[in-house]
Amino acid sequence: LGGSLAGALARLSRATVVDDKAVAECLNEISRALLQADVRFETVRDVSSRIKAAANLSALAPGADKRRAVRNAVAGELCRMLDPGEPSFSPRKGQQHPSSVVMFVGLQGSGKTTTCAKYADHYRRKGFRPALVCADTFRAGAFDQLKQNASKAKIPFYGSYTESDPVKIAVEGVDTFRKEKCDLIVVDTSGRHKQEAALFEEMRQVSEATRPDLVVFVMDGSIGQAAFDQAQAFKQSVPVGAVIVTKMDGHARGGGALSAVAATKSPVIFIGTGEHIPDFEVFEVKSFVSRLLGMGDLPGLVDKIKDAMPADELKLIEGAFTLGVMRELFQGMQNMGPFGQILSMIPGFSAQLIEKGKEKEGQAKIKRYMTIMDSMTEKELDNTNPKLMNESRVKRVARGSGRPVQEVAGMLEEHKRIAKIWSKLPLRDRRLNTNHRDPL
Ligand code: GDP
Ligand code: MG
Repeated sequence: LGGSLAGALARLSRATVVDDKAVAECLNEISRALLQADVRFETVRDVSSRIKAAANLSALAPGADKRRAVRNAVAGELCRMLDPGEPSFSPRKGQQHPSSVVMFVGLQGSGKTTTCAKYADHYRRKGFRPALVCADTFRAGAFDQLKQNASKAKIPFYGSYTESDPVKIAVEGVDTFRKEKCDLIVVDTSGRHKQEAALFEEMRQVSEATRPDLVVFVMDGSIGQAAFDQAQAFKQSVPVGAVIVTKMDGHARGGGALSAVAATKSPVIFIGTGEHIPDFEVFEVKSFVSRLLGMGDLPGLVDKIKDAMPADELKLIEGAFTLGVMRELFQGMQNMGPFGQILSMIPGFSAQLIEKGKEKEGQAKIKRYMTIMDSMTEKELDNTNPKLMNESRVKRVARGSGRPVQEVAGMLEEHKRIAKIWSKLPLRDRRLNTNHRDPL
C-alpha cells in the first residue's frame, strides 16, 4: 500500500496544473492502493468519494491551492476511516469504582493471550491492580501459557486445568478478583481455528455471564481481506467496543485494521509489535496513517499530510459548552495558523464567531473575549445556569477586565448561541483540539 499510495500523491504534487482530471486520476490510484492493501472494496469506494467531496475543488476560490486541498482531504479521510466517532471504554482505577472487566475475543493464533498480558501490564504500569482470567478451556496448554505470561508481568491470574466450562471459570475468576478489589479484570477466551457457530455461542455466553465493560477484538494485522468478515462475525455475537491489531512488527500494512474498524464501528486502541510483553503501543492515528502512506518514501509530502491531520489528542467534551470550554477552545486556536481555516475546522463555529472577510476583526474580538474570561471565576467558567451571570457579576467582570459592560454582555450572548448549537451536535463532533499545530 505504502509505495503506491505515496506514489499517487507524489504524482499529484508533480503535476503543474491540478485540474479535476489530475485529481480523479490521483483518486483512482489511491483506490487501487487501498485495494491492494486488502481494504474492502466498499470501504475504498466510500473513502474515495468522501475525499472527492472533502477536497471540493469547484468550490475553492480561484487561485486557491488545490494540491493542498487534496492533501488535506486525503489526510482527513484516512483519519476518519480510523475513527468511528465514539471513544472506547477506559478502565478506571481506585476503590471508588467497581472493577473494570475487559473480555478479549478473536480467532486462535490472533495473539489474544499474549495481548491480554500486554494490556494488563500496560495498566499495571499506570498504577492499576490488574488480574488475568483464563477462560480458554478449548486449547490444551492455554492456562499454562497465560500463567507464564502473568507471572512474567507479576499479575495475579485465575484458571483451571480440570474445569471444562469456560463460562463457569470466567464467572469464578471475575468474582474472585472483584472480591479482591482488583481495578481491572482481563478475561482471555478461546479462539478455535475457524469462525464456527460453537465459538460464537461460547463468546456470547461468557459475555452475558461476566457482563464486561469492554469487549476487545484482537486481530492479526496480516490477515488482510479476511478482517472485515471476521470482525463482523464477532461483533454480531458480542458487543465489541475496541480493536487491537497484533503482529504489526511483521509485514502487516494495516489495510485489515481499517476493515475491522469499519466492521465493528470501534476504534483501534493498541497495536502489538512483538512477542514480548513490552512490545505494545498505544494506537496513534498519525503514525498509523504515516505507515499507510509509506513513510520514508516521500518524507516531505508525508510530513505535510501528517501536519494536516487532526491532532491525536482531541478532547471529547461530554458535558455542556460552558464558558470554560469556550476559553479552552480559544486558547487552542491561538497556537494555530490562518484564522478562517481554523474556525472552519470546528463544527458550527465559523459563521458564529467570525464574519466572512472580517477574519482580522474576528481574531481581535476573540483576544478581547479571552481578556474578559480571564477576569471570571472558576465557578462562572464552569457554570451551566444561564441566570448566574447577573448584572452585578457582569459589572465586576467588566471592571476587572477593563472592557465595557456591553462587550461582556455581548460575549455572554454569543456564548449562549454557540452553546445551543453545540448541544445539538452529535457527541463525535463535540471535541476540542487544544493542541493545534499550524495547518499546511
Ligand atoms: P491466541 O491463540 O489468540 O491466544 O494467540 P497467542 O497469544 O497464543 O499468540 C499466537 C502467536 O503469536 C504466539 O506465538 C505469539 O508469541 C505471537 N504474537 C502475539 N502477538 C504478537 C505480536 O504483536 N508480534 C509478533 N511478532 N508475534 C505476536
Ligand atoms: Mg490463547
